[in-house]
Amino acid sequence: MDLLKTLVDKGLRRELPSRDEALAVLATPDDDLLDVVAAAGKVRRKYFGRRVKLNYLVNLKSGLCPEDCGYCSQRLGSKAEILKYTWLKPGEAAAAAASGVAGGAKRVCLVASGRGPTDRDVDRVADTISAIRDENEGVEVCACLGLLSDGQADRLRAAGADAYNHNLNTSEEMYGDICSTHDFSDRVQTVKQAQAAGLSACSGLIAGMGESDADLVDVAFALREMDPDSVPVNFLIPFEGTPLAKEWNLTPQRAMKILAMVRFVHPDVEVRIAGGREVHLRSLQPLALHIANSIFLGDYLTSEGQAGKADLDMIADAGFEVEGQETTTLPEHRDAELVAVRRRGAGTELPPNA
Ligand code: SF4
Repeated sequence: MDLLKTLVDKGLRRELPSRDEALAVLATPDDDLLDVVAAAGKVRRKYFGRRVKLNYLVNLKSGLCPEDCGYCSQRLGSKAEILKYTWLKPGEAAAAAASGVAGGAKRVCLVASGRGPTDRDVDRVADTISAIRDENEGVEVCACLGLLSDGQADRLRAAGADAYNHNLNTSEEMYGDICSTHDFSDRVQTVKQAQAAGLSACSGLIAGMGESDADLVDVAFALREMDPDSVPVNFLIPFEGTPLAKEWNLTPQRAMKILAMVRFVHPDVEVRIAGGREVHLRSLQPLALHIANSIFLGDYLTSEGQAGKADLDMIADAGFEVEGQETTTLPEHRDAELVAVRRRGAGTELPPNA
């Protein structure tokens, strides 16, 4: 197909597809799905070979959030049956992180529910990062703490965080439909603050919330404008007790096309299959590795993923390999850009893990 050839050529040149081309990927008939996967796979292999990066979530604080994000089981008034607890101690978080690293995880993602951290929370997370670093040499640490206030990104970077995650989730136009307590621009601002502090930005989306193809393309393009280093693609798990509990509208084929569209828009960026992988991709998960180069290992956030061992077997069976700590995830040109940003932000003093 001409469309796929064009998309591969553009991807290999790191060129943005047009909106119509991105929309056409989502509109591809299911009969042509394998052609789409093969095309996206060419772009994936150019920048990431057959490597799969494993990430491990440590939920530092769960539930009890005052915000009202409609997709979230931790939202204000959620009736979803999830664990609710306040801040894990640094030693507890380090022990959880160590189990992920032992399973092959290269990055530990420290997640806390809530609108955003207080300065005291940032101190707690700083202590947690040191505890994790003491026990797990070389591990990447990403913080995901919500909206940041002035100076907090710098403090997290100084504490040794490598990355900050804050997702845009959906298009600017649809944002008001899924949340009323903060807006799209608040999220963009936090991602920019993280980047300005020299943190590697991780920002992605949630598919399956009732959005249109145009919304999906809009959020993928908005992300491209911010130029994050990793883009997690979540597939909504409609939790009972949340406003989106009835939104079961993804098929495995649809989820694959969404991943492929994101890959074409972000050819040289870490595309991660995040929440909802097992529920929505189901038996197509190994095929999805031809498009995405990163997954979460085992359990994540408030739902259960497949056990870590099953993930490792799947990766090996599909002919991929787990990315080791000695390998840089991003292609050389992107990694060099990130180091340059950090050098500008930190003078010439770089932390040892930069
Ligand atoms: S701010 Fe975060 S934890 Fe709170 S409802 Fe929104 S997504 Fe959930």
